Amino acid sequence: MSQQVDTVIKHGRLVLETGVVNGAIALQDGKIVAITTNESAPDARREIDATGLVVMPGMVDPHAHIWEPTHYPEREDYLTGTQAAASGGITTLIEMPLSVPPVTNREAFEYKREIVQKKTVVDVAFWGALTEKSTGHYDELNDCGCVAYKVFIPYASQDYPHTPDYALLKSMEEISRFGGLVGVHAENADILFNRQKEFEEKGIFNGAAHEQARPEIAEVEAISRVILFAEHTGCRLHICHLSTVKARELIKQARTRGVDVTVETCPHYLVLDTMDLEKHGGFAKCNPPLRSPENRELLWDMLKAGEFDMIGTDHTPYTNDDRLKHGDNIWRMPPGIGGMDLMLPLMLDEGYHKHGVSLEQLAKLMATQPARRFGLPHKGALNLGNDADIVLVDLDAEWTYTWANSYAKAKCAHSPYEGKTLKGKVVETLVQGNTVYRHGEILAKPGSGHLNTRRII
Ligand SMILES: [Zn+2]
Repeated sequence: MSQQVDTVIKHGRLVLETGVVNGAIALQDGKIVAITTNESAPDARREIDATGLVVMPGMVDPHAHIWEPTHYPEREDYLTGTQAAASGGITTLIEMPLSVPPVTNREAFEYKREIVQKKTVVDVAFWGALTEKSTGHYDELNDCGCVAYKVFIPYASQDYPHTPDYALLKSMEEISRFGGLVGVHAENADILFNRQKEFEEKGIFNGAAHEQARPEIAEVEAISRVILFAEHTGCRLHICHLSTVKARELIKQARTRGVDVTVETCPHYLVLDTMDLEKHGGFAKCNPPLRSPENRELLWDMLKAGEFDMIGTDHTPYTNDDRLKHGDNIWRMPPGIGGMDLMLPLMLDEGYHKHGVSLEQLAKLMATQPARRFGLPHKGALNLGNDADIVLVDLDAEWTYTWANSYAKAKCAHSPYEGKTLKGKVVETLVQGNTVYRHGEILAKPGSGHLNTRRII
């Protein structure tokens, strides 16, 4: 190629779908236009020297909560949340519909789009809401470009009601008509409600009780139910944040029967367990809860066996006060762990370095497969013609995470990750060819990211 291109990244180890190779990657007009040897790389107006670095596709987070617009602006917004994403190598963030109002119709979608477009520094896509209120609006949401529809089988929040079975079945029928994807928070509402009530009545409020109050059977039962609904309706199904290996056989069997189901887990289920819940109490509270150390290791076995399709952050930020104001009462504390900037670093440290997961496998789990499942085929892989969403990683750099350096808005000094030393660091992040983050600094302007929509016809 003799023509000068915008950017060339040279001398890096490129994580391609076909394997890791040394070479160069050329970018023009926000797209990947060549993958070559270093010697035959085209001339470029800008050259990035990736000597000693790994060049991966930008991560695609299928499960983030930014919550804007919201009642709680102190927790996160689309600028801080996407800056944190960029600093963690995430170039596309698929955001959950739990904004206020939830994304149940065109009006809510457009309202959110306007806010997001002024602020985001990475690319985003929206989940639509699967609630009773959304019934009759799915065609409209598909038309807007929602990439999937999220349902809570258990209670979620005052603004996002749990969906009873009949409404879920009807919604899946409606969504299956246009080939849409339904993502499920799968826990049995009745078991959780009553088990927690028993604990409260007995005066048990400690952190470890949170896991006991949301037992694995509650998760397994709900997964079993939604698999049956998916099989019956033909609706494509995505299991969000699987925490327990006890659902492993159930999912395997469903796949064998031809049910179109994908499964996601999150870094916290792979890195933290009930010991952390005991230690950090409400600051390690998430739903489904952290499970036993034995379960955590078995999740790694599932991951290495290719039984997870993807990893999502389930970034759910809270301020210190959101939890501290409830004293020791685990039941009153809000659930969720912030970690938008930590997914890739945690997976490099625990996955690549400690569990022997290959870089190709990590790219598949955090970029390629989420992009394809959520209908963003131009993202998630270093392929010719794809968006030039790229992350440069120093595999051997050791660093210590502290909330004080995080771009996320809710400065949670008691995060279970606080003070954790990690091996593997994000050096630079490019979105559509532009560097948005480099060496600790955000270089992109608010609103430089794009909203990706997808309409299934
Ligand atoms: Zn979530």
